[in-house]
Amino acid sequence: MGLPAFMVATTVKAVLAQRLSRRLCTTCKVPHDPKPEEIKIFQENKVELPAGTKIFGPPEGGGCEACKNLGYKGRVGMHEILIMSDTLRGYCLKDVAADNVRKEAVKEGMRLIVQDGLEKVKQGLTSCREVLGGTE
Ligand SMILES: [Zn+2]
Repeated sequence: MGLPAFMVATTVKAVLAQRLSRRLCTTCKVPHDPKPEEIKIFQENKVELPAGTKIFGPPEGGGCEACKNLGYKGRVGMHEILIMSDTLRGYCLKDVAADNVRKEAVKEGMRLIVQDGLEKVKQGLTSCREVLGGTE
């Protein structure tokens, strides 16, 4: 943004990032047992998937009248909130690369957008494909 690093570091309290994914149609979404590739996505992103959890997806070959046969209707937000800690403030002052800031934020407990998205998959709000598609 062209702002001096010290100004950002001293005034920013938190940074909120949001991405949207399509919301599964509540009228026609269908539950299934997690597929191996879906279980892998949860494992790779370090999100717990308790045994017996059902994952929802659009019905085979379309949707219903309510979603105009799309299987999705509306959007659901996936968020991550970076809280500016003293360590991160120091990073900003030193102009440390964004990747390192991110790593430190994760170490301090920040939940990534993809992880928030996968929690929403567990809640049946959206599908794995949507979450991954929305973060790349
Ligand atoms: Zn539908």
